[in-house]
Amino acid sequence: MPEGDTILRAANRMRPVLEGVVPDEIVTPQPRHARDRWPERLRGRAVTRVDTHGKHLFLRFEGDLVLHSHLRMTGAWAVYRHGARWRRAPRRAWLIVRARGHDVVEFDGPVLELMTAGRSRSDQRIAGLGPDVLADAFDERRFLQRLRADDPTRGIGDALLDQRIVAGLGNVWKAEACWGAAIDPWRTVRDVSDEEALAVVADARPRMLAAAEAPRRHGTDRHVYDRAGRPCPRCGAPIAARGQGDDNRTTFWCPECQA
Ligand SMILES: [Zn+2]
Repeated sequence: MPEGDTILRAANRMRPVLEGVVPDEIVTPQPRHARDRWPERLRGRAVTRVDTHGKHLFLRFEGDLVLHSHLRMTGAWAVYRHGARWRRAPRRAWLIVRARGHDVVEFDGPVLELMTAGRSRSDQRIAGLGPDVLADAFDERRFLQRLRADDPTRGIGDALLDQRIVAGLGNVWKAEACWGAAIDPWRTVRDVSDEEALAVVADARPRMLAAAEAPRRHGTDRHVYDRAGRPCPRCGAPIAARGQGDDNRTTFWCPECQA
């Protein structure tokens, strides 16, 4: 699943194409959106801003209209020079926004909706999100409030995936950041100090920001994620893997040096 850094990276690529211009064309090939009339509703309106919160992306238009997207497991954003070959089939495109000689495309997007800015502020799926792990200034106080208000018997690794506690972390960065901060993801929230919880986020932030800024998408240099049975880069013990939380997402950790 795309995590916050992938979404921020997509927004960074879209901004120079879309911000400040009226798109030449907006196309919604998905039959599901055929009757939404977005091209008509957005005609003549400039894109004022492209921004993100965790795994959510917002295309903001003049006149207080917002296209809200969440990619879930399968979706992807792409920016192509007009006429270039796409890496997914055109029939999988849900939204195409053409401007400045480029096509901004959302593929396989399960959550794509046009709403007013007011509704986007009151919608619980958006308003209920925890602080964005990639915000310019991470809201530590709110993160700790949300963490402490939640079930204290839950594992910290599971809690960090809850977007209402911190937005933008997914399974890869959660495992990597727990390893980076040397915290066992199975420790209960109750047994993790504020300093330790903040240390996990502090480990994730610079690495995720670097991934979002990278000119080319490349495999993260992973220490534990998807490395079950291989030696821990820090202590040499074999990396363990087991499903965690209600969603049973596989977490990877070193049982030797993560305490
Ligand atoms: Zn280790």
